[in-house]
Amino acid sequence: MDKLEALKRYFGHGEFRPGQAELIDAALGGRDLLAVMPTGGGKSLCYQIPALLLPGVTLVVSPLISLMKDQVAALKAAGIPAAFINSSLTAAQLRLVRERAARGEYKLLYVAPERLESGSFAALARELEPPLVAVDEAHCISQWGQDFRPSYLKIADFIDALPRRPVVAAFTATATARVQRDIMQLLRLKSPLCRVTGFDRPNLYFDVRRPKSKRTELIELLRERRGKSGIVYCAARSTVERVCDMLCGRGFSATRYHAGLAEEERRRNQEDFQFDRKSIMVATNAFGMGIDKSNVSFVIHYNMPKSIEAYYQEAGRAGRDGAPADCILLFSPGDITTAKYLIESSGEELGEVEREDLRKRDYERLRVMTGYCRTGKCLRGYILDYFGQEHADCCGACGNCKSTVKLEDVTVRAQMILSCVYRIRERLGYFVGKTLVVNTLRGSREQRLISMGLDRLSTYALMSEAKAEEIKELIEFLEAEGYLRTNPHMALEPEPSASELLFGGKKLYMPVREAAPARRRRRRSAEPADIEEAEDLFSALKTLRAGIARGEGVPAYMVFSNATLMDMAARAPRNMDELLDVSGVGEVKAAKYGKAFLRAIEEYNRRKA
Ligand code: ADP
Ligand code: ZN
Repeated sequence: MDKLEALKRYFGHGEFRPGQAELIDAALGGRDLLAVMPTGGGKSLCYQIPALLLPGVTLVVSPLISLMKDQVAALKAAGIPAAFINSSLTAAQLRLVRERAARGEYKLLYVAPERLESGSFAALARELEPPLVAVDEAHCISQWGQDFRPSYLKIADFIDALPRRPVVAAFTATATARVQRDIMQLLRLKSPLCRVTGFDRPNLYFDVRRPKSKRTELIELLRERRGKSGIVYCAARSTVERVCDMLCGRGFSATRYHAGLAEEERRRNQEDFQFDRKSIMVATNAFGMGIDKSNVSFVIHYNMPKSIEAYYQEAGRAGRDGAPADCILLFSPGDITTAKYLIESSGEELGEVEREDLRKRDYERLRVMTGYCRTGKCLRGYILDYFGQEHADCCGACGNCKSTVKLEDVTVRAQMILSCVYRIRERLGYFVGKTLVVNTLRGSREQRLISMGLDRLSTYALMSEAKAEEIKELIEFLEAEGYLRTNPHMALEPEPSASELLFGGKKLYMPVREAAPARRRRRRSAEPADIEEAEDLFSALKTLRAGIARGEGVPAYMVFSNATLMDMAARAPRNMDELLDVSGVGEVKAAKYGKAFLRAIEEYNRRKA
């Protein structure tokens, strides 16, 4: 069996995606590798196929129990013997897995990183002599990435202690250049093949909205998406509670998830969502890392996250099956305040120097994230820029590309703000916070301000016509554009480039969106008529899938993904051979479910005729 046969037979796909074949060849040829691919890009195949083709058991280090469970279930469903070892197993189960592993009954064995430190596991690993060790979510090894996990630092030692050095393959979806360097160094990869495939997720539609009322906007968005499955992310637990109650009160099928809930409830709610018993999950960022649900068709952020990495990771949980999906962020300036508060209150366990470092980094990330909410340019382009990937100026499939953005000249107002910041500093000898700057510009009679003598500044009441909100918004825009920054003491400080605006004759334009974007759906290939028909068959197939999934007690996507059902509906196969041509139908699944689906298609055709 070669790699292409394995792809077809076990996973039901006809061809490799960009990067996959090369990475698999590297592993098979004994070379270490580092793959950075977007979520849903197909990383798992890059170690699962080598695992199938290499002799012995491949070890997969994976950080999350729920993810392991899902992956192993999916492998078994495809006919590949696999198991996991983590803290969820009883002693008896653990013993059984060990024995089977030692007998060579598995092709893949998933383990949690903490497990590598256990003496008995190390003994088992020495016996198994794995040909390949795959490290999933490899960015967890870097303190510069999201989700740093100290136990990842022990992986290299674990590998060094094996009698024969295996090929080491590292995978991640989010890694800036810095994190990539950390992964290579700390995992001690040997002249690895590095592949950073595109971060772009063409099936995702991005939009940022600044509604007057987030609540009203959210309800509107969810109404447009009735019957679809999606996640609503909130910054705080209390917001999760509030939003979830509000949605349930209005008859939406919603559930909730955050770290403050009892484990039992978390598990139940997660399953309700995963098994499509509830269609909306309202959650904090605690939800998702372990979720492999592929039919999430929208991710709405009720608050702005604290970095683009976090945003892209969370938003990226939409559309993993390749079907069109929406990522919408509801922004208000208050989100920045919340994010800053979170930054200020984090890292308490660290020393002063480290904490200061961390804060600096966090503020920089926040600035870039705020820029995303403010930019008038292509949103996809903004994200790809951040990850250092080339892209077209306009993607044609994001809120900004879809609507006209008017550029408003804000140079004069920006100058007023900046000079006020400088004047205050001249008077007091230090910089002050945003509120004081806004109040000075508006000519407030606030006691504190007057006792500081700020009412005698030339910039006092310079913007008395403007609303406080407007001035705040401008200040945030200046921050996003790099003219001002909030220092660790929460005071506004000008950046060096501020002088270009004040004295250099530079102009500043703020984008203002004109029309609300029209609803859109990018349909690829197929003609509209075909699609309508296919969608009909698609829903018939979905109903069948739901029945099977219920009967087997597994989530629907474990039977077939949405993308597979879509392809199946478009091709409408008439026999087993044609069914095997459908993307995502491998031999084991065809044997298991093929008859039922073929019968459903036949029935559908008869009804149509
Ligand atoms: P990742 O781990 O990178 O997030 P997965 O490995 O879970 O992504 O793959 C995401 C989806 O893409 C899965 O549904 C998988 O079946 C599909 N997929 C992976 N490789 C291919 C391929 N070569 N052709 C078609 N679909 C693929
Ligand atoms: Zn765009």
